[in-house]
Amino acid sequence: MTLSDQNHMHHDAIIVGGGIGGLSFAAVAAALMGKKILLLEKNAAVGGRLYSFHRDGFTLDIGAHVISQSEKGPLGRVLRSVGKDGDIQWKHVRPMTSYRGDIFAFPRGLEGRIPAEQFTALMALMKEMVRMDDPASLELDEMDLRTYVTGRGVNDPLALACLNNINMVYVCVPDYEASAGEFIRCIRDEARSRASGYPAGGCSAISEALADGIREKGGRIMTKAEVREIIVEDGRAVGVRTRDAEHRAPIVVSNADGRRTLLDLLPAGALPDPEYRRIRDMTYSYSMLIVRMALDHPITDYRLITHIGNMDPKGNEEALLSGRFPEEINLFMPVPSNFSPECAPEGKQLLTAGIWVPYGTPDVDRLEDIVVDTADGILPGLKDAIMFRHVTTPENLNRIVGEDGAIIGLGQTTGQVGKKRLGVETAVPGLYLCGAESGGSGVGIELAIHSAFELMSRLADRDPSWRIPAE
Ligand SMILES: Cc1cc2nc3c(=O)[nH]c(=O)nc-3n(C[C@H](O)[C@H](O)[C@H](O)COP(=O)(O)OP(=O)(O)OC[C@H]3O[C@@H](n4cnc5c(N)ncnc54)[C@H](O)[C@@H]3O)c2cc1C
Repeated sequence: MTLSDQNHMHHDAIIVGGGIGGLSFAAVAAALMGKKILLLEKNAAVGGRLYSFHRDGFTLDIGAHVISQSEKGPLGRVLRSVGKDGDIQWKHVRPMTSYRGDIFAFPRGLEGRIPAEQFTALMALMKEMVRMDDPASLELDEMDLRTYVTGRGVNDPLALACLNNINMVYVCVPDYEASAGEFIRCIRDEARSRASGYPAGGCSAISEALADGIREKGGRIMTKAEVREIIVEDGRAVGVRTRDAEHRAPIVVSNADGRRTLLDLLPAGALPDPEYRRIRDMTYSYSMLIVRMALDHPITDYRLITHIGNMDPKGNEEALLSGRFPEEINLFMPVPSNFSPECAPEGKQLLTAGIWVPYGTPDVDRLEDIVVDTADGILPGLKDAIMFRHVTTPENLNRIVGEDGAIIGLGQTTGQVGKKRLGVETAVPGLYLCGAESGGSGVGIELAIHSAFELMSRLADRDPSWRIPAE
């Protein structure tokens, strides 16, 4: 196809990036509104952080391991829109907490492990969070999680550490920076739907199902098509430029890092100065050092363990950044083959151990050994069973997904959620954002999908053809 052929094809919207945010927007627009969409993805496959690959019969995920509300959340709605909900089999999970050789379920497992009055305060806090409505949670957007929790009388170190570990799973910034309102929305929605889960066959099953659905509904997806520039004419975004082509549409939706879109993909001067400076100063969530371990035999029946190795989030960050690593560390440990046996060859097991780290943590090779030693302390026999390790460092993640290897995207911190979040609408007419950096609320994958729905609702305010028909 020549450059001019491409110019003459009509599209209602161009979507830059095929992460879950871009795929969700494209799926709903193509399937439920009959929009002609073109999705351009820089990598050879869609999925972004929601991508899996294979090695020696094991299916390894680049990133996500647990979807907060699975089929009961926004992802279920997107899959239904393209008729692909039946393609995904969900495996549900009950996370367990590990601390000093003990494994228990939060919060009830803390009874007897913390003082009785602290347990009572914790259960009252849980009840308050699970019952809270949106307006009340929005009031807490500017309060950090630690201040909120201690203000409710919960100050036992183990209770605080358990809450912070859950917070790290959800928003991946420490409790003294995380927005209380955002955390409450995450824990509330997960507790209400009771459906945390993992897709059989690995996370790519989701992105592949959505990409198939988009194509079946007439959408176009081009991979290995990196957008180098957003074309702006007379102050309005009118299309995009890749290395060898130009594509035009009345609406450009960027699912590529929202911050990078505005700072680097727009021509210089397209953004007003104060907006440019505000976005430049925004910060990403923590990154992760991920050690995937292929085991020659199963060593555990657990599906997901979060381990408390360090009770002091601030001290933990300082220790990581200075390279003075403690002997035992906090870990996020899903066992994908216990959710989905297809992820490992028969008789083998796949276990992942990830440590949340600020980008710039030095000496990750040494940290990798501490990850494995800590995991072996929780699940004895692990080290002897390892056939191979596959490691993704924050640097690797940065190369694959950008954004300083961020787990989530722009951090859900007190100054970056709710009204202060990067919006789905931009200062440049015709250019919109969707994904884990802009709009929305919730946990990782669902944050990005909520952003896509928020954008559609904003578009519908101006043009009813973007309204989602009632299900
Ligand atoms: C290690 C790890 C563990 C995680 N665990 C969980 C979890 O358990 N649960 C959970 O809910 N979430 C988890 N997440 C977070 C979740 O994966 C992300 O928040 C979510 O996938 C972000 O989706 P997105 O669509 O916003 O962005 P991305 O997935 O980053 O997608 C953006 C896409 O845009 C493409 N792109 C970028 N620039 C361009 C360009 N110039 N031209 C064309 N294409 C471009 C990229 O290649 C990419 O495909 C995890 C993430 C990581 C890294």
